[in-house]
Amino acid sequence: MTRRHIIAGNWKMYKSISEAVSFIQELAPKVMGVGTEVYLAVPFTSLSAAAEAAQGTPIVIGAQNMNDAAEGAFTGEIAARMLLDAGARFVVLGHSERRHLFGESSEFVNQKVRRALSEGLEPIVCIGETLEQREREGVEEVLSEMISESLKGISREEMRRVIIAYEPVWAIGTGHTATPEEAQKVHAFCRQEIGGQWDAALAESIPLLYGGSVKPENASGLRAQPDVDGLLVGGASLDVKVFLQIIDYQTFR
Ligand code: PEP
Repeated sequence: MTRRHIIAGNWKMYKSISEAVSFIQELAPKVMGVGTEVYLAVPFTSLSAAAEAAQGTPIVIGAQNMNDAAEGAFTGEIAARMLLDAGARFVVLGHSERRHLFGESSEFVNQKVRRALSEGLEPIVCIGETLEQREREGVEEVLSEMISESLKGISREEMRRVIIAYEPVWAIGTGHTATPEEAQKVHAFCRQEIGGQWDAALAESIPLLYGGSVKPENASGLRAQPDVDGLLVGGASLDVKVFLQIIDYQTFR
């Protein structure tokens, strides 16, 4: 079966509104008909302007986090409905920076995934092991638990709108990337776990992205793996020319 193929940029806490708009204006004409979906997770403040700039282009705008409640007295938080209202179509949930710097548990991530789905946002759910977990518990044990906890209670129908990103924590922002073979092995394992939790047909259709120090030099090898359906790119998505080389490596080598 042919799965969706997605290259997603995660801008983290970078770019002003005007920087976001110029980036999209420069990127948009170059990704017309590129044959891959292009997602950009932008800071909250840029959502509206970015969504407007991306209108009529293949670029899909989303957010990097949200609260699990519909609304309420949660100072400084943001609700799924507000993201949709600002033009977001997807949201990154459970990014390792949220899990490790802000103490988000898989249980909390699960509440957010449920909320995102019920409000109509497509979640990109991030999972990945730390170096310590890798050595102490093993990659498969850690990921198996993260998948079952973060996606607990999600129906088969809802799962069809979920994207999963495998991002080994030791690879994020460090310059160390999983080899294409390592990434393939882990992605195949994740697909098998999803198959066990739901069913094989669903697992076959879920886009599994790889993230962690992706650069133009390593992107094509990772993308060529049969179970790698795209990439989640942090640092290298901040420069339009570098990001383009990752999106369309055949044209912009
Ligand atoms: C990320 O932020 O999801 C990420 C993978 O970052 P980087 O590409 O910079 O490692």
